[in-house]
Amino acid sequence: MIPIVQNEDPVLRKIAKEVPVASITKPKIKKIIHDMSEALGSQSDGVAIAAPQIGVSLRIFVISGKIFDEDFIRGKGSTEGELYKKARQKDLVFINPILKKISKDKKLLSEGCLSVRPIYGKVRRATRATVEAYDENGKKIVKDGVGLLAHIFQHETDHLDGILFTDKAKDLHDAPILDEFEDNN
Ligand code: ZN
Repeated sequence: MIPIVQNEDPVLRKIAKEVPVASITKPKIKKIIHDMSEALGSQSDGVAIAAPQIGVSLRIFVISGKIFDEDFIRGKGSTEGELYKKARQKDLVFINPILKKISKDKKLLSEGCLSVRPIYGKVRRATRATVEAYDENGKKIVKDGVGLLAHIFQHETDHLDGILFTDKAKDLHDAPILDEFEDNN
């Protein structure tokens, strides 16, 4: 089991370093990505994780494939067990991500964080965002995110700059509300 670093650990406040592109497919980075996916997969309510959250100060984040599953999105409100049985899609890996084309349009959405248990709060973020990054094969990728996915892109890139959602959140409270469970990044 890969431990998830908790708030107060200085690694969460560091500016993470870029991964040299030539190293992306090397065993060391592969292992880090594998560990991130494993740590994320161990949390039934987790949707994304950044490398500093497993104690590695590198610019990598992983988004759980389950959020791209239409059943997951549509299934909001059904029981957790049903949702996670349907989670089949591969995790998406973002290395050296850069946020591009952030919409001026913003919205408050509930968020939690695997490293700030058990706090939840509302964060105002752009409703659309595009990320440029490298995938785990060292290939350049560009992904557009709307709604939850756009919030995740911003929450995760914040992690790589040492920022936690609690720095920006309103209405912090420490109990997960049922319809917020999918917002842990
Ligand atoms: Zn987080």
